[in-house]
Amino acid sequence: MDDQNRLKTIDDFMLNNEVPLDLDDLMVVLAAAYKVPIALIGIVGEFEETFKARYGTSLSKVSREHAFCSHVVEERKQVVVNNAHEDPRFKDNPLVTGEPHICFYAGTPIEINEQIIGAVCLIDTVPREIDAKYLEVLDRIGALVSQHISLSKEHEALKREHGLIEKSPIVLATWRNTTSLKLVHISKNSENVLGISAQDLLSGAVELRDVLTQDAESDFTFAMQAHVEGVETHSCRLQIATPTRTIWVSMISTASFREDGMLYSVQAFLFDTSDQKYVEDKLNKTNQRMRLLLEASELGTWDWNLAADVNQVNKRWCDIVGLEYEYYDTSSRFFRQLIHPADYVKVEKQLHEHIAGKSKVFNTSFRMKHTNGSWVWVESYGKTVESDVMGKPTRIAGIHRDITQRMESELHERKKTQLLQFINKTRASYLQNNDLTMACQTVLPELIDISDSQFAFVGQMKNEGDASRLFIHAISEIVWDNSSFSQYNEYKKRNLYFSSFDNLFGTTILTGEVTISNTSGSHPNSKGVPQGHPRISRFLGLPIKVKERVVGMIGLANKFEPYTVDDATFLQPLLDALAGLFYAVELEDARAVAEEKLRKLAMTDSLTGLYNRRAFINECIVFSKQHHSACVAIIDIDYFKQVNDTYGHDAGDQALITVARKIAKQNSSPNVVARLGGEEFAVVMLGKNKKEINTQLEALRIAVEESVVNYKTDKINLTISIGATFVDSTYGADFSSLLSTADKSLYKAKEQGRNRVVWGEG
Ligand code: GH3
Ligand code: MG
Ligand code: MG
Repeated sequence: MDDQNRLKTIDDFMLNNEVPLDLDDLMVVLAAAYKVPIALIGIVGEFEETFKARYGTSLSKVSREHAFCSHVVEERKQVVVNNAHEDPRFKDNPLVTGEPHICFYAGTPIEINEQIIGAVCLIDTVPREIDAKYLEVLDRIGALVSQHISLSKEHEALKREHGLIEKSPIVLATWRNTTSLKLVHISKNSENVLGISAQDLLSGAVELRDVLTQDAESDFTFAMQAHVEGVETHSCRLQIATPTRTIWVSMISTASFREDGMLYSVQAFLFDTSDQKYVEDKLNKTNQRMRLLLEASELGTWDWNLAADVNQVNKRWCDIVGLEYEYYDTSSRFFRQLIHPADYVKVEKQLHEHIAGKSKVFNTSFRMKHTNGSWVWVESYGKTVESDVMGKPTRIAGIHRDITQRMESELHERKKTQLLQFINKTRASYLQNNDLTMACQTVLPELIDISDSQFAFVGQMKNEGDASRLFIHAISEIVWDNSSFSQYNEYKKRNLYFSSFDNLFGTTILTGEVTISNTSGSHPNSKGVPQGHPRISRFLGLPIKVKERVVGMIGLANKFEPYTVDDATFLQPLLDALAGLFYAVELEDARAVAEEKLRKLAMTDSLTGLYNRRAFINECIVFSKQHHSACVAIIDIDYFKQVNDTYGHDAGDQALITVARKIAKQNSSPNVVARLGGEEFAVVMLGKNKKEINTQLEALRIAVEESVVNYKTDKINLTISIGATFVDSTYGADFSSLLSTADKSLYKAKEQGRNRVVWGEG
């Protein structure tokens, strides 16, 4: 048996003492009805049984060990002992052998919360029989006693609660709804708390309404009417004015309804909140003073009622964004519309977090559109000032501070650093790779980013003869049709040039000035964009200059906001850096051109413009890496000394030039012609057979023989001798030895009488 729980129940019902249950009368009736001398109610505690009601004995308790009722507790049912003297369980029990000389016993359980805590019992000193019918009645009496004990405990508790309320500062009032709401109960502390006696209120001598101020009376009527309409709970604050004092009382009321939905009663707690009201009033006054302070300061204020979606702001708030206070629209949609698209998500996120209770304050900075079209940076600081019963904010209030100047200078500083970094990057990339195009391409995305633009290009002027073109180092990928696709491909091949400057960007090249256009097509030089090209709404052209000479430009397009002169000033360091790089590249190019010139000079015979011997040998080395059939021939003018001697050295020069032209005319690339020295020429004729070449050499010989060199009035006739040799493949050929073979043949030609072609084998 679970004695622990049983004992706890006895404790809970405060039966663990000798205080009687006030049921002695019942015992009298029981004893008379059953015609027994003793009737008892016993509670079986841990060690003793205590009689809480009794008739016929002065015993107040017996030990649990000897108590007959212990058997009822243990067996959890009625126990009847007809003759204890004959019952082995009891015959030696001191209560049998001594006072009160129990002989007959009938006990029935007292059960509370499923625990048998004791028994109602009948005792006689003589043996007896008892009818089953009477035992059943005894059981019923046991059940009634159990119920009585339970109810008295509840009653005790209620009495205590009421006692508590009567001493508390909270007045409890109940109105019953008959034809009207009638006050049927009000706790006695009404006198202390409200200053009106409960008795007066209940008797109707004083009505609660009579002591309410006018406003409070209408609030009270509203509260009661709300309950009549079906509102379950309501709270309001009422001002009570009695002749002796005026107080503020909070009233929280709840209604109970009948099954048909009609109001049955209203119960309310009323308590004095004058102190709180005083503090609040003071706070309100402070708030008002605060508001005045805010007005005087540079702070805008906002006060947003979420349920009604009304956002009240002050005049300064409107001033910050250039709005007329009178025309301000209080919907939050209007306010949201003013937020910069780039900041919108951030603001909404912060606001949601605050509304969801994830942040104590709403504090963020964002841009708002000023009526003059510019963007204003504001810092917003807000806090929930009212919430509903679920704790969800219903009102958030806060301040706005214009931080445009601070933000702009911060942003400017940041961008300046970024600009310097990427100028360095451009320089480093150029120095590392010696590739300006690559350097420009690497920084293009950053240029677009730092200038808040959508498109960009970097171009360098390239002068070719009289024409100047803009070579595009880097450009945003804009492809919309076949021709723009091929244009972009040209760009990929590093072969994109802009050559027409009769347009918007060309203005920058032609004038060397910054070009700004913030409305599409508005610039006098604007020619519009090619069909299909994404709209260019804004354009900024920045010239790259070296000593007032335009060497290139940067084009930027479609900034979110208008381009300004400040943008140009800001990017000037980049333009200077690029100018330096472009200049370096120009110098480099010029040096390369000069070098090439020198190289050519060193390879060329100045009189005839043909290759000299060194260049001839160099070219031949190229052939010795390829597979050609070839003829190497040496051509020598016959009796040239006599030409000089007869007509003079200049005439001799003229004759050399004439012969050189004839040889060169017949032997264009890939054949090579050179003047080896004096009046001696060499030629390598490629890719033909020996017979064909012989025909050509003969033709050359005849052509010289038949021509006349006109020098002033003189007409000079010449002939040439040719020594030739042939190889099937030039691959790996030693041209020096081929030349010496040809030279031997030439010697033979001279020997054989000149003006002829002689072939020799190598
Ligand atoms: P051959 O038929 O045996 O070749 O007789 P040649 O007189 O042509 O030969 P030679 O080697 O005796 O004479 C070559 C002359 O060419 C000698 C030199 O004065 C002349 N000469 C060499 N270079 C130049 C030049 O650049 N200009 C002029 N005008 N004469 C030159
Ligand atoms: Mg000669
Ligand atoms: Mg000669």
